[in-house]
Amino acid sequence: MKNRYQNKEAKALIARYRRQGVAADMALRIYTSRLLGAEKSLVIHGGGNTSMKTKVTDASGMEFDALCVKSSGHNLDALEPDDMTVLDLSLLSGLKKLKSLPDQDMIKALSRAKMDPAQPNPSVETLLHAFLPDAFIDHTHANAVLALTNQPNGKQLCEEVFGDRAVVVPYAMSGLALAKKAVAAQRRHPNIHGIVLMCHGLFTFGKTAKESYTRMIRLVSQAEKRLKGKGKKVFAASATPKKLLPVAHVAPMVRGALSRGGSWILDFRTSDSIRQFVGGKDLARYAQAGPVTPDHVIRIKPKPLILPPPKVGGGNFQKELLKEAARFSDRYRAYFEKHNRRHGGDKTMRDPTPRVVLVPGLGLFGVGETTRIAAIAADMAATNIDVITAAEGIGTFKSAGEKNMFDIEYWALEAAKLGAAKVPPLAGRVAVITGGGSGIGAATAKAFADQGAAVAVMDLDGKAAIDVAASVGGFGLGCDVTDAQQIERAFDAIAEIYGGVDVVVSNAGAAWQGEIGSVDKAVLRKSFELNFWAHQTVAQNAVRVMKAQGVGGCLLFNTSKQAVNPGADFGPYGLPKAATLFLMRQYAVDHGKDGIRSNAVNADRIRSGLLTNGMIASRSQARGLTAENYMGGNLLGEEVLAEDVAKAFVDLALSLKTTGAVMTVDGGNIAAALR
Ligand code: ZN
Repeated sequence: MKNRYQNKEAKALIARYRRQGVAADMALRIYTSRLLGAEKSLVIHGGGNTSMKTKVTDASGMEFDALCVKSSGHNLDALEPDDMTVLDLSLLSGLKKLKSLPDQDMIKALSRAKMDPAQPNPSVETLLHAFLPDAFIDHTHANAVLALTNQPNGKQLCEEVFGDRAVVVPYAMSGLALAKKAVAAQRRHPNIHGIVLMCHGLFTFGKTAKESYTRMIRLVSQAEKRLKGKGKKVFAASATPKKLLPVAHVAPMVRGALSRGGSWILDFRTSDSIRQFVGGKDLARYAQAGPVTPDHVIRIKPKPLILPPPKVGGGNFQKELLKEAARFSDRYRAYFEKHNRRHGGDKTMRDPTPRVVLVPGLGLFGVGETTRIAAIAADMAATNIDVITAAEGIGTFKSAGEKNMFDIEYWALEAAKLGAAKVPPLAGRVAVITGGGSGIGAATAKAFADQGAAVAVMDLDGKAAIDVAASVGGFGLGCDVTDAQQIERAFDAIAEIYGGVDVVVSNAGAAWQGEIGSVDKAVLRKSFELNFWAHQTVAQNAVRVMKAQGVGGCLLFNTSKQAVNPGADFGPYGLPKAATLFLMRQYAVDHGKDGIRSNAVNADRIRSGLLTNGMIASRSQARGLTAENYMGGNLLGEEVLAEDVAKAFVDLALSLKTTGAVMTVDGGNIAAALR
């Protein structure tokens, strides 16, 4: 592992922070913490932590010894001085003489030691940082070190590799007991540079940030050297069929099987090494031995769901998948009940849905309530695969074990990292919006994202789609919805990115005008291509994915007021829209049995790329009105905005017992009322 410390960079950061009133030792603490965080094989997603002992002056001018330690849940790669919780070191040192310290008392002690009560809770490993004497302490869950410790003979291996530079401490949960053990070990070996925690990670220490960091990199490099060249062709391959279903077809089935107990976003990952891992004959053994370091368990559970290879033409994959998913939940319940008894039955079971799904031949899916959480699960699964592969390359992978995993998974201090976020109503749902690059479509993309949905934005203008998607954290792609192949590819791409589709807002459209008795046939046909046929092809693809999921879905069509109340010379636009209104009803009739709802929004007079200022001028003229009267010419006398239409789409998506309905968003227009 490369030592990334550069004096020039360090000095620049000291200078920058000095201007903000941050001391040089803290600037260096932040600098090397970020260097550790930048190395994904050392720490991911809030794992690992760093600390510094220094002198601090409080408001009364009194100076005292402080421990600044990374707050729980922050990522090292983007650490800022404010993310370091400042604690009164002498209060913490006083805990050393205690025989035991229950969780609740430890939380109280840490809270009391906080210099600023408003600061977040410090890392659960704070006591270890407090008790070790060195000024700077670094802690990582280095992949290479875990590959050594997670072995039946892990202790011996580590002693061989690290010699007298590090001492090995047996696995224990973070807290007083572990901190005391670590300090005792360090006292017995005062010249060591680090402490290896079995099945957990590595601590290094030093007089300066640079020294502690350099020792971390050096020890990890020693571990890497021991593993070098051993991670190739580790797993004997199982007999995977040659022809497999594509990810785009497998993902909705997986998502559907999991979504029987909630709504989930999938994040698919694959690579040669992932496929080698999931294709191994002994997959059930090494993949289910448990996460490589305990803090992963709150994100990926003690075990992944393992599926059979998705054989083409086998026909049984979906059946097997449903069976395996149900079996996973049953086993999780049994695991919970068994270990909860040990705790006197005081825990509440977390949801039993797998967070990692392994598919031989294809790769892995991370599973989460949002795209971000699914990505974290996928990142952790990939890290676990790296470590387990390295461990199996030199021996046999062994984790801290089920009992220890449960104790971490159901440890209040660890669960606190997940936060108690309020779940928005469309969390875990995937919404696709066609014509989402501007106007009503863009407003709709934002409205769905605001309700927690993962949003895919399609538009003829690919750049506009990507820009709108980026503004709402979604996925954007160019797609001409009058081209059936492009639509199929777009739905496949969305299934690969998010796992499937729940809501489709078929919104793309354009207005053509012409007196119906003389209009060119080509104009009318062109309008039908976009304003009717594209809706049909989009809806058909949506139904294909929704049926593969088997958990229903929601189709929403933008049919416009023209569908029921024709305007003069607007036949080329209104006619296909009227057909689309009936298309909506036909989907409601034919696919109600599949749990797929179908509804429409009749909007009128929304300023957009479709109803441009030029168009407003000509439409208002056709009705003998000024542009202003035309736009506000409704019962409420107010202009209707794209955001009003977007809200109607969201409302219909949330109205679970409504299908075959039209919602009017026109400020009130009795001539366009449906009945
Ligand atoms: Zn740790």
